[in-house]
Amino acid sequence: MNEVHLRRAIELAAEAREGGNPPFGSLLVGPDGAVLAEERNSSLSDNDITAHPELKLARWAAQNLDADTAAGTTMYTSCEPCGMCGGALARSGIGRVVFALASRQLNGLKSGPGFTDVPTDGPYLYEEAKVPVEGYYP
Ligand SMILES: [Zn+2]
Repeated sequence: MNEVHLRRAIELAAEAREGGNPPFGSLLVGPDGAVLAEERNSSLSDNDITAHPELKLARWAAQNLDADTAAGTTMYTSCEPCGMCGGALARSGIGRVVFALASRQLNGLKSGPGFTDVPTDGPYLYEEAKVPVEGYYP
């Protein structure tokens, strides 16, 4: 854990809030300690529910880093990544995430019910649905 990087993530969260967005920020640090990229939540100013800083950095890493470099990076983030960002991080190849505020701590700072899962229904039509998938994955 690097307190300088984690404190920068908290600063980015404050900057997001000052810009009229939810208060979350993240940065991606290379294996040599160099900051590769920084992001702030911009979900309100961009009118984009996916504009979380962790997801933006996961996308950036996948587009700009080779797999070995990505695996050597650490994301420092002001809050534990949500489920959406966790999925993107798993696909990004980023090596490690260090967070300040835990999700349960964040929830303790919120009022109201927060997000609920969308009801899902399935599986159905296996024989038809498997056709475009079969043979795709080695
Ligand atoms: Zn998120």
